[in-house]
Amino acid sequence: MKRQQRRPPSNKPRKLSDLTVSEITAHLTSKITRNATPNCVSAWKQRLGPNIPFSKIFASFGTPLSDPSEERQWRKLVHRAIFVRGRNPNAPDQNCRLCRTHKESQLHLFQCMHTLPLWRQCLKFTQQILGAPQPFKLEHAVILGMRTPTVLLPEVARAFLRHAFQHFYHDFANVDVKEGTFTWQYVYRNALLSFRDALLRYGRKVRVLHSHRTFTSLTDGAPQEAKDRFSMCMDCDEVHGAVIKKELSDEIEKADAAAKATTN
Ligand SMILES: [Zn+2]
Repeated sequence: MKRQQRRPPSNKPRKLSDLTVSEITAHLTSKITRNATPNCVSAWKQRLGPNIPFSKIFASFGTPLSDPSEERQWRKLVHRAIFVRGRNPNAPDQNCRLCRTHKESQLHLFQCMHTLPLWRQCLKFTQQILGAPQPFKLEHAVILGMRTPTVLLPEVARAFLRHAFQHFYHDFANVDVKEGTFTWQYVYRNALLSFRDALLRYGRKVRVLHSHRTFTSLTDGAPQEAKDRFSMCMDCDEVHGAVIKKELSDEIEKADAAAKATTN
């Protein structure tokens, strides 16, 4: 006799033993979260405006130039899970660890006199080197990747800002954890360096894609679209991978010199 199929063609579970752990978890979680708006959505809307399109923002997680580890701190920020002193009612001091005058909140990280030069420089870079348009508000651009209240910034600018927040949070946390010093020029330099690494990684992927296709009968080489995707800051081809454009290399050199000058 033919063995009975474990699941019908619709793939719906037919008996209890068909259920997997993830299906049971998804079912139980849906009972709790059904129709519920995540707290981060209502909290950011309260602070930044009611019409923020969070479905677009959540769908924008992950770009070819920023992987989950590079976006880790930024994703926590969107979920309002960044640790700041103001979140702990029992903390002996809730004031900002940098300016020591305002309450340290997640929004204050973008309004503090010690961090504003960093975010302004980052946005200037996205406009001058990456060709992004000027966003309508600094907080919306860095926290949510928004250019207008409803439109996202270009992908390349969003990726860079996520690298920048990753490095910002590392140095900011170290002020409390390791009694480190916060120098925004170093954060900017380090963000540029990890962004450059991401461009080179992308270039290597294009080269590998090209080799795979060349040695099969699929098509000839990597699509031109993939090679041109980040043409504002690199030349990309199947022979060299990514070659960083002079404007970006010069900016890295300038940022490195400016960072080193702060310690002289
Ligand atoms: Zn402050």
